[in-house]
Amino acid sequence: MEYSVFDAHCDTLCCVRDDGKAIEKNDCQLDLSRMGKYKSYTQVFGCYINPIYKEHALERCLDLIGAFYGSGLDKHGMILSMEGGEPIYDLAALENFYRLGVRIIALTWNFSNHIAAGVHEPDKSKGLTTFGARVVGEMNRLGILADASHLNDKSFYDIAALTRLPFIATHSNSRAVCAHPRNLTDEQFNVICQSGGCVGINLYPPFLNESKNADLDDIIRHIEHFMSLGGENHIGIGADFDGVSYLPDGFAGCEDLYKIFDRLLGMNYSEEQIEKISHKNFERVIGGVL
Ligand SMILES: [Zn+2]
Repeated sequence: MEYSVFDAHCDTLCCVRDDGKAIEKNDCQLDLSRMGKYKSYTQVFGCYINPIYKEHALERCLDLIGAFYGSGLDKHGMILSMEGGEPIYDLAALENFYRLGVRIIALTWNFSNHIAAGVHEPDKSKGLTTFGARVVGEMNRLGILADASHLNDKSFYDIAALTRLPFIATHSNSRAVCAHPRNLTDEQFNVICQSGGCVGINLYPPFLNESKNADLDDIIRHIEHFMSLGGENHIGIGADFDGVSYLPDGFAGCEDLYKIFDRLLGMNYSEEQIEKISHKNFERVIGGVL
């Protein structure tokens, strides 16, 4: 079986922008030559707004969007997302980001901002702000998906109550399998399923296994758990390539994703089920806003 892939999150634009890496071929975790070995490969390229940029968040975001277009990634059918809402200083800015091609926004990274609270927020009562509620309303109107991956639990439920679009978590795993706040509870996974959304399995070992060392078995345990919750139409890949310092044993980058699908095939998953997980579930959800 030749696989098609849809990966909902990577940070490779930072390598292109900051380290001068070529997207065609590089020593990062992802490049076009390795993606080209698959039947098809659609990648969501995140514009990660590192908190160090502070009042320069907007310039930073535009630099990363520039790296996306400068590398010709739009011509390869790739998709843009934003990770951290600091560049959204008003609603008109949001419409400009839509025009520039941004279709997914994680409103916070791990910390809190003027929009919502992230997973490292010590005050559990903090969630979506008043301005944040207006941002979500405008995202509904424009057709930009909200990404739950770095939100704290309160922000998760605040946004779930407001969004009329499918709610997604581009790169998060199951908290029942690995108790990390970046992962989703079973109840949160069900909320995402009911919205018609999708969750991308993240390959960062600390999100896969509490020992911080992980291998293919751990990746499969998260998929199997979401499957046991009725998630067949709501599981995808969000590997977090180039956003993570190391990967599970046996994984060096996008060239190794096929190992997940080969294993599922060996476990008697049908080709149709594997295609849903490898690309069709996220294609369905993102296709709705393209
Ligand atoms: Zn992330």
